[in-house]
Amino acid sequence: MDGPAGVGKSAVGHLIAKKLGYGFLNTGEMYRALTWKALERGFAPEDGPAVVALAQKLKWEFRTTADGRLKTYVDGEDVGAHIRDERVSANSSVVAAHAGVRRLMCRLQRRLGKDGGVVMEGRDITTHVFPDAEFKIYLDASVEERADRRYRQLRAAGKPADRQKIKEGILKRDLNDLQRKINPLSRAADAMAIDSTKLTLHQVANKILRAVKNASCA
Ligand code: C5P
Repeated sequence: MDGPAGVGKSAVGHLIAKKLGYGFLNTGEMYRALTWKALERGFAPEDGPAVVALAQKLKWEFRTTADGRLKTYVDGEDVGAHIRDERVSANSSVVAAHAGVRRLMCRLQRRLGKDGGVVMEGRDITTHVFPDAEFKIYLDASVEERADRRYRQLRAAGKPADRQKIKEGILKRDLNDLQRKINPLSRAADAMAIDSTKLTLHQVANKILRAVKNASCA
C-alpha cells in the first residue's frame, strides 16, 4: 500500500493485516528511525554521504509484536518513542531522498516480505519494492482532511496543534516525496485507488477486504 503523508495507511494497513492474519510493516518507521539517528548525531539530513554511511553502520532489526506488527529496532533499541516528533517528521523526506538510503531500505524490506503474508505500507512499495505484489492499494485523501485528522488526533491527546502549520508540513513532505528523483511517490497502474476523504477507517478497510476476497476468488 502506498499513499501520501497522513492518509491513514498505517491504521488501515494494520487493521486489514489483523483481519487477514498477516504481519504488518510501516516502512516510514525505517526512514524516520534513520532521520532520528542522523539528527541525534548532528548530521545534516541533506548530507547524503554521511547519512548513507550512518544507515550502513546501524544494526537494523525487526521484531514481531503480539499484534502482528514488525517493529523497527536500531542498534537494539525500539525506535518508537523517538520517531514521531516534529523535527523527525519534517526531515524524514529529505533523508529518504538519498539513493544509498533507499537502496538499503529496499533491500531490508524485500527480505522482510519475501515469503509473503505481509501488509507493507509506504511510498514506493507497490511501484518499486514489490512490483509483483498480490494486491496493491493507493490510498489518498484531500490535504484538508489529512491535516484535520492530524489536528484532531493531537487535540485529543491534549497536545498543542496549529491546523495551518500541520497542513504546510504535510504539503512540504508530499512535494518532497512526489518530486524526488529516485522512486518518487506515484500510483501503480494496477493499484486499487481509494479516496478516503469522506470514509471512515472501517469503511476503507472493508472496501479493501472485499476487493482482496474477490481477487483471490477470481
Ligand atoms: O509514512 P511516514 O509519513 O511515516 O514516512 C515518513 C517519510 O519516510 C515520508 O515522508 C517519506 O519521505 C519516507 N518514506 C519513503 N518511502 C517509504 C516510506 C516512507 O520515502 N516507503
